[in-house]
Amino acid sequence: MMSETNSSIQSTTGRAAPDFGADVIDGKAFAANLLQRIKQDVADLRATTGEVPGLAVVLVGEDPASAVYVASKRRETLAAGMNSFEHRLSEETTQAELLALIHRLNADPAVHGILVQLPLPGQLNSDAVIDAIDPAKDVDGFHVANAGRLAVGQQALVPCTPLGCVMLLKDRLGNLSGLHAVVVGRSNIVGKPMAQLLLQEDCTVTIAHRHSRDLASITRLADILVVAVGRPEMVKGDWIKPGATVIDVGINRISRHGKTRLVGDVDFAQAGHAKAITPVPGGVGPMTIGCLLENTLEAFRRARAPLLKSMKKVS
Ligand code: NDP
Repeated sequence: MMSETNSSIQSTTGRAAPDFGADVIDGKAFAANLLQRIKQDVADLRATTGEVPGLAVVLVGEDPASAVYVASKRRETLAAGMNSFEHRLSEETTQAELLALIHRLNADPAVHGILVQLPLPGQLNSDAVIDAIDPAKDVDGFHVANAGRLAVGQQALVPCTPLGCVMLLKDRLGNLSGLHAVVVGRSNIVGKPMAQLLLQEDCTVTIAHRHSRDLASITRLADILVVAVGRPEMVKGDWIKPGATVIDVGINRISRHGKTRLVGDVDFAQAGHAKAITPVPGGVGPMTIGCLLENTLEAFRRARAPLLKSMKKVS
């Protein structure tokens, strides 16, 4: 996954021509409001319980992009008034050492959320590491227990990116019931949970992938089109039904006219006949950290439910 935080990247949000008909969904502004609300909730919890949620982030190795993501997560966690616990481990960390840390964080009552920054160095098995995280603290929503709960409609911690996409869609469209949603991409972190969430909203859901035949004829059926493939500007204008709402999850760095910039999986300039579309950058990307903190707050509330309940009775 590529971050949107690289300042050398030229914004493409200004590409919308004056006659561009679609509303451009401002994920940055939505995320800022979300973070503000989380900050207020944390302040209220501190006032009533004397406690605040704590998020532990584990970074193994020196990958510069990962270091940037971890730094911005820490900054936003602290800005929301939560505790941030950062664990930086050397590139040579063994599986046993990493698992020992996860077990310590699982047992630490001050830690309500655990995030292991991916990808991990080659000697480490990320599936085994994610499996070791207590599902109640799995704020990335990657543990099979959370994926399974989401699939069967039980209370789960949901992966942050699709959670952010659904928030943007509900804000824009209100009730999603009965709409035909097409999700292009079936990864465990975006496509599959996205499809599950849309199903929970009573959408009719189609999932497309690399082997889908005549993809354009499938995407043209969508009232809601979510694209998460990692292919720059793959979805062209005539793949989009007039009036559709388009969520572009892709983040792709390209070089054009001697400049580097980020583009999505949708050819934004050709999407003016959509009802609304998320730009890249500035659409889905900014929502992800907000949803991570939302999940951490939720994990805290579930962990401290007995305390919160007893305080409610007293007041
Ligand atoms: P993955 O590589 O894990 O999955 C890509 C999916 O796209 C696969 O299911 C693949 O199908 C499908 N796909 C690839 N090529 C095609 C094609 N030509 N036609 C149809 N389907 C295709 O990627 P992620 O889900 O992790 O990420 C997708 C994009 O979203 C990336 O650009 C990533 O950077 C971005 N992203 C953005 C985030 C944000 O915060 N905005 C967060 C996470 C990701 P198959 O399964 O058949 O191989």
